[in-house]
Amino acid sequence: MLTLPDLPYAATALDPHISERTLEFHHGKHHATYVTNANNMIKDTPLADASLEDIIAAAAGDADKAGLFNNAAQIWNHTFFWNSLSPSGGGQPGGDLGKRIDADFGSYDKFREAFVTAATTQFGSGWAWLVEDGGKLAVTKTANAATPLTAGQKPLLTIDVWEHAYYLDYQNRRPDFINAYLDNLVNWEFAESNL
Ligand code: MN
Repeated sequence: MLTLPDLPYAATALDPHISERTLEFHHGKHHATYVTNANNMIKDTPLADASLEDIIAAAAGDADKAGLFNNAAQIWNHTFFWNSLSPSGGGQPGGDLGKRIDADFGSYDKFREAFVTAATTQFGSGWAWLVEDGGKLAVTKTANAATPLTAGQKPLLTIDVWEHAYYLDYQNRRPDFINAYLDNLVNWEFAESNL
């Protein structure tokens, strides 16, 4: 039995960059529906009491479990996304993570360019990520529910670029949402905690 985690802040906390209305729909409807769907699919199966991570691993690459993978991975991705945001976020990372970004991308600006490009060019629904891959930081993007978890990468941060993540606040202006995320919301402390 999977459960919908609470948001780690009030639904008004990210306004105006992400409105209360967006968070109410995105967490209270979209994220909640993935939980309901996944629970319906694992009910009375050997995965009924499995952890979310074990369900994702069991369903990944199994065509018969594509629906379960999509819903379970979306639960994980969304919880990770809420934690990637902070009411006091945004700007450049310091500390060890800042040094790692300078070392692996060349500079914060180079990281930012790569992240904005990935998030902007993910065609249709999906996600952009900062990951650690083979000991190096990298930017990647995934389609639909796909997650770096099943690609042997360690996720550090994500942004949801499904239209439901930004359409109420930004309509078609996905780049404005991506820049608002980087300037005002990105939670570098969470990213560093994942290293
Ligand atoms: Mn979403």
